[in-house]
Amino acid sequence: MENEIQNIPENFSGIFIRSDKDYQNLIFVSSSIKKYFGFSSEEIMGSPKLLFKKIDAAYFKEVKKFFRNLKKGLPSTVDFIVIKNVDEKYLLRFRAVPRYEGSELKFFDGIMFEVYDELNQKALLEESEKQLKVLFETAEDLIFILDASGNFVLVNANGALSLEYMTDEMKGKHILTFIDESGKSSFLKAFQLLIASTTVQTFATKFQSKYGKSIIFELNARTIFDDYKKIIGVIAIGRNITSRNSLEDKMKDLSHKLVEARRIISVERDRAKQRISVLEELNRLKNEFVSNISHELRTPLASIIGFSETIDSDTSMPDEMKKEFNKIILDEAKRLANLINDVLDISKIEGGKIVLNKTEFDINEILRRSVEKVRAYAAAKRITLSVDIPPEAVLVLADEERITQLFENLLTNSVKFNVEEGRVTVMAQNLFKEYEVIISDTGVGIPAQDLPFIFQKFYRVSRPGTEIPGTGLGLALVKQIVDHHKGLITMQSEENRGTTFIIKLPLLNKQG
Ligand code: ADP
Repeated sequence: MENEIQNIPENFSGIFIRSDKDYQNLIFVSSSIKKYFGFSSEEIMGSPKLLFKKIDAAYFKEVKKFFRNLKKGLPSTVDFIVIKNVDEKYLLRFRAVPRYEGSELKFFDGIMFEVYDELNQKALLEESEKQLKVLFETAEDLIFILDASGNFVLVNANGALSLEYMTDEMKGKHILTFIDESGKSSFLKAFQLLIASTTVQTFATKFQSKYGKSIIFELNARTIFDDYKKIIGVIAIGRNITSRNSLEDKMKDLSHKLVEARRIISVERDRAKQRISVLEELNRLKNEFVSNISHELRTPLASIIGFSETIDSDTSMPDEMKKEFNKIILDEAKRLANLINDVLDISKIEGGKIVLNKTEFDINEILRRSVEKVRAYAAAKRITLSVDIPPEAVLVLADEERITQLFENLLTNSVKFNVEEGRVTVMAQNLFKEYEVIISDTGVGIPAQDLPFIFQKFYRVSRPGTEIPGTGLGLALVKQIVDHHKGLITMQSEENRGTTFIIKLPLLNKQG
């Protein structure tokens, strides 16, 4: 049958369909139909309507017109798309095949389906172009193409809109006109890098919208080259990251604040810790002080009470003994009074209430008297007192009582913290601008770790096993007295070897 058909190109690769003269029934369908429509030739011959199942509905009208023309005997063609399945589409061309008798056209013999490969490619291209266009127009991102000099050739509507422009308002204009003033230099830098490279470059760019808003886009851009590797433009797609950026800024800001807050908290915590430890230390010292002072008070009180009771109960006590006991009572009472004075003094000084009662006196004489006061105490421990005080008078303007207190405290300590048969050296010299006293002993000394605290009130060196009674007020008072007289006190001490105090006090300036 096929050979009856005229005018079919020799290497025709398409489909041939032949119908009867009334175009009612198909009498031949080439087996190649299956490739394009998915139905076998028998299936199509049995039910020609199946063809329409695969024809893209958009072409129905054209195809139907073609059939009408065919019946009218008009030569006709129609192009249409067959959708075999989602991924397989073909562009086919219907062409009526005329039958000639001699040179006279008799009637149309049938329909030839031609499959144009090149047409197919075009269709697919058109199709993907269509899809691309849809994508281009619906994308929320900013998509654009610039020419070699940086002018917009193409920009998608949504992208333009996000900058408050219409596409046409942007086309032909240079990209720099749309960049925010503050972002221009960094954009130019990024743009230079982009032009120098052949790969996709990503960089953030601050645009300025038509009405002055700053909008940051993260651009993925690439240069476009011609066949001679010459740059003919730039294609780019940009994502609006303005909100991301401002969120990032806020995050950064917050995290800085967090770090700062943490630092402040930790500083505060350290300070609180320090405060607590100072308070704890003070508390410990106070407790220690209370127990020391109670002990110190109790000892003289016990002898006072004990000796007075003895005198009271023993009427036959010889006068000599009574006198001796009375002296002890008196001494102990004085000791008590001194102690109470120390406590009061310290609190006076603490409260800033110390007022120096300054008079002019010979400080050598005061020192000599103070030494005499500890002589008996030293003798009791068989301690040698070596004293080198010049005989001449050295005048100072100072509080005599306080200076006495100062010397007595230091001298008492030098005996108290000395060893049996030890030595105490007292030296004084007139240095013309100042008066220097050195009180040195061969006693137990002060451990190096205690030295920095030795002048703090209530501070006492703990000497487990050989605790020597005291309140820890003496040296604090000494220091306060020296300070108030604008003098200087220094010390050196070695554990188990001894301690030396050096005191310098200003001399009376006769001219002043
Ligand atoms: P107290 O003698 O009442 O304990 P001080 O303030 O006079 O208080 O002395 C404080 C501490 O310094 C004493 O506990 C003692 O351990 C130490 N100290 C003072 N003077 C000497 C000294 N000459 N030799 C050794 N230790 C001393």
